[in-house]
Amino acid sequence: MQATGLIERLPPSLLKLTLAAGELADKSGIRAYLVGGIVRDLMLCRPSIDIDIMAEGDAVRLARQMAEKLGARLTTHRAFGTASLKIDGYSVDLATCRSEVYRQPGALPLVRPGSIREDLQRRDFTINAMAVCINKSNQGELTDLFGGCEDLSEGLVRVLHNKSFQDDATRMMRAVRYEQRLGFRLESGTSKLLRRSLDMLDTISGDRLKNDLSLWLNETHPEKILRRAGRLGILAKLHPALSWDPMMSSAFRRATRGNGAANPMLYFCLLVYNLDEGELYELLGRLNLIGSRLDLLSHQSLELKGNLDELDNPAIKKSELYFMLKEYDTTAIHANLYYAGAAAARRNLRLYLDRLCYVKTSLGGNELLTLGVRQGPQVGIALKKLLAARLDGVIRSKSDEIDIIHRIIGH
Ligand code: ATP
Ligand code: MG
Repeated sequence: MQATGLIERLPPSLLKLTLAAGELADKSGIRAYLVGGIVRDLMLCRPSIDIDIMAEGDAVRLARQMAEKLGARLTTHRAFGTASLKIDGYSVDLATCRSEVYRQPGALPLVRPGSIREDLQRRDFTINAMAVCINKSNQGELTDLFGGCEDLSEGLVRVLHNKSFQDDATRMMRAVRYEQRLGFRLESGTSKLLRRSLDMLDTISGDRLKNDLSLWLNETHPEKILRRAGRLGILAKLHPALSWDPMMSSAFRRATRGNGAANPMLYFCLLVYNLDEGELYELLGRLNLIGSRLDLLSHQSLELKGNLDELDNPAIKKSELYFMLKEYDTTAIHANLYYAGAAAARRNLRLYLDRLCYVKTSLGGNELLTLGVRQGPQVGIALKKLLAARLDGVIRSKSDEIDIIHRIIGH
């Protein structure tokens, strides 16, 4: 694994910013480092849009000086000793090195300022626990206390110590995310610790689980992560009825085919598709998602699943299909499309999504009034008739619509 010349691999605007941070740190007599994901990604030559800088000293002050020097946008969080800079679409987070003590599993740790070594010791995996000095005098010097560089070249995700998952069980979710994203393997000791520590996921708050689940679903290949999480028993800890099965596999394959953007809400609907209403409600409660958009979409998806039999009809009229589906969000419809086994149901859902949902009448409510339709519910009824006629191909033009209206009002 190549550790020299790492800083030079940064894209130009981040390089400029990093060098400026190093010079300012020199002036203040403190040490500053690139740490965590950016070091890992630079070593792997993978693009990264976020960088983390840790300072053995006042990071907020350093960030303020950088913002002044470079004209970057600054946000500070004094209470946490952190700051963020935005420049050219990149985001740079600065923080003061700290040491952490975990007093209770799952609870947030006690924190105090510390050295880079202490800061690296509190991290999740060896591949995320490396730092590169950015001060001029020691520029490019790598601190790798746990063999992260070697694990990167062997493709291993390894915790730093045996109590890691007990201190913070969300690391199990992070572990499979990195493993599958990078095409790595869990180191065998880490995998054993993970299986043994599964119950610790019960100590994690709904919001934290939700956050890590969302990070899974925002990855390019969420299905790989979910499959692995299913096999390791992580999914069943989120809800006992949640598992990975071959049907889910093909649904995800269909959903992720092509190069469309990731759609985390759709992936969530696919993940919970085999739960019943009660189980879904329990899972949403555990993840603190009751009343959220995901709650709405996943319920719609299950409701439509209950109506799929009616859609499995090759002779269904297009207007009937339209009015059956129009109350559902397209995410819920897509989820059913990717699961539906029956060919006619699939064709009908596709037809709706590709064509029918875009069909519009040429005439609007105001024009109907001008043509003599009485104000009130009649307007809606007439518009619905026009739309149905359009959908079923009975009429094709605005003048066809006007003819229908004339017939309705008896002209
Ligand atoms: P990504 O590419 O997914 O952003 P990242 O490595 O940058 O990966 P972040 O979640 O942005 O990950 O966190 C930054 C760094 O903070 C990590 O590299 C890791 O060193 C540390 N970290 C984050 N979460 C934890 C955790 N739960 N326990 C220990 N260390 C963590
Ligand atoms: Mg990051």
